[in-house]
Amino acid sequence: MPPEIRTIKLKMFAGLASVNCYLIKINANFVLIDTGTSGNRGEIENQLEKAGCKPGNLNLILITHGDLDHTGNAAYLRDKYGTKIAMHQGDSGMVQKGDMLWNRKGNPISKIMKPFMGLSKSNRFTPDFYVEDGYDLTNYGLNAQVIHIPGHSLGSLGILTDQGDLFCGDLLINTDKPVLNSIMDDKKAANLSIEKLEKLNIVNVYPGHGEPFPWDFLTEVKEQRVEE
Ligand SMILES: [Zn+2]
Repeated sequence: MPPEIRTIKLKMFAGLASVNCYLIKINANFVLIDTGTSGNRGEIENQLEKAGCKPGNLNLILITHGDLDHTGNAAYLRDKYGTKIAMHQGDSGMVQKGDMLWNRKGNPISKIMKPFMGLSKSNRFTPDFYVEDGYDLTNYGLNAQVIHIPGHSLGSLGILTDQGDLFCGDLLINTDKPVLNSIMDDKKAANLSIEKLEKLNIVNVYPGHGEPFPWDFLTEVKEQRVEE
């Protein structure tokens, strides 16, 4: 049976924005991609429960990047479900120290926002293991591989299933239309990440923010890249 993808859309900033987590069901087991903010805890717990996810059948929590809207419940859910957390080492300091600018160049706005945008102490964690480009997730029940796609952060990663579903974290966004995220720490790296993705067999994209979309809709990104 092909994996079943459930989008868990969680509200942020009093409903002005939202963040997506993706719960993938493979037979009787699950893999969770990203975890929302700590303010979304009750909601994500409810959604997991509704889907039939319980301690013992959550194979893995995968983190696309270290920002707090993707990592806020990782430590909590790891404990509750007795599972493991995997992410790219390039963002490890963000979740261990609660410092959103760790391994990032930052910009004037992000420097002002820094005290408000890190994981609070109780939600910080050390991942159980790190994954690199090409890491095969079959051992966790998911026929997919990890694609390293730096740009939004150095440790940003995508997950590409054998069916062509790409979970892209915050490299791409579709809150209005499918585009390269305007919040980029390293634009050059982001462009290279897009070039890398273009060589792969991608059918649908599941972004960290906004609606999933077909990969073919990404014409804007190509135009953006030419301008830079
Ligand atoms: Zn985000």
